[in-house]
Amino acid sequence: MTGVAAGPADTGPAVALPAVGPGPGEADWAAAVAAVRGLPADARVLLICHVNPDGDALGSMLGFGLGLRQLGVRRLQATFPGPPEVPEPIRGLPGMDLLVPEADADPAPELVVCFDAASESRLGGLVDRLETAGAALVLDHHASNTRFGGINLVDPRAAATSVLAEELLTRLGVTLDAAIAECLYVALTTDTGSFRFEATTPAVHELAARLLATGIRPGDISRRVFDTRPFGAVRLFGEVLCRARLEPLAAGGHGLVWTYATLDDLARHDQRPYVLEALIDSVRCTAEADVSCVVKQVRPAEWAVSMRSKGAVDVSRVAVALGGGGHRLAAGFTGRGTVEDVVAGIRTELDKALIEA
Ligand code: AMP
Ligand code: MN
Ligand code: MN
Repeated sequence: MTGVAAGPADTGPAVALPAVGPGPGEADWAAAVAAVRGLPADARVLLICHVNPDGDALGSMLGFGLGLRQLGVRRLQATFPGPPEVPEPIRGLPGMDLLVPEADADPAPELVVCFDAASESRLGGLVDRLETAGAALVLDHHASNTRFGGINLVDPRAAATSVLAEELLTRLGVTLDAAIAECLYVALTTDTGSFRFEATTPAVHELAARLLATGIRPGDISRRVFDTRPFGAVRLFGEVLCRARLEPLAAGGHGLVWTYATLDDLARHDQRPYVLEALIDSVRCTAEADVSCVVKQVRPAEWAVSMRSKGAVDVSRVAVALGGGGHRLAAGFTGRGTVEDVVAGIRTELDKALIEA
């Protein structure tokens, strides 16, 4: 997600989802604690988060890594698949020294821990570590999670993966310090849209209180992570928002608003692709549409698609049908062909999702 630069990557699951299974049981927590506590003194541990990391993916991973370091784990690496570029807004997170490029990641660590990835496909070329590692632990909160680890701490009701990371750290006896807290706070605010989304429960605010009690500065963090972007990105947003289309009859009359951005748009404004992650937050404001969508060119005929819903449509169904995944109110997939091809596919799947609902 992600809305790394400005707000929500994952809205997290909305409340009252009937299909959502229970979170981890005591046996799962005990297995996860044992997997860490049972590591030999010189054990190699590899942390992996999903491709194109957002605030929750990177923040959960680095916060957990700093916690492991506090416990004395020394041979520790954090990584993610694909280009080793971290979006500017989250580049200043504590624990960045743990990060290594995919190519340098340990081929056979004693323990691998995966963060915020709903399925193996989100691990790209690092997926083989699930086989080569001594044990594989998965921390995630996507309803569509396929439980691909040997130990799975998956809670679809959790607002962010960082909620699970903090609980495991606490069970391991780690003391929250300001560095760990900053990572987990960025993760939590990213996925709750700064406490605006439905998954913002009392427990989320209690977690935020524990994190803030370490002395981290929420104003500074939010300005850096959500409210800062280059002037070129401001102008690029203006252009891309101007070409947005509203289709009130789409999605069974609930309405669709969408826009797109090309590689040429990025080049003209001298911007990196991650600046576009925040665009969906401007598009989804549209009152006349339940569903919003931003189609971002990745390669000539390949597009990263972000979708949001206000509740009438389950966009994760649309995303899954088109080869992606996500949550009921925030989902995405990789589209092929022209922009029109991609949007045509979305229109079709939106209608199907409504019929099946
Ligand atoms: P984004 O629009 O990138 O902020 O992503 C919104 C949600 O959709 C997140 O929960 C992602 O995990 C999920 N998502 C986005 N793109 C993909 C994809 N290509 N495959 C699976 N899930 C995705
Ligand atoms: Mn994410
Ligand atoms: Mn998340």
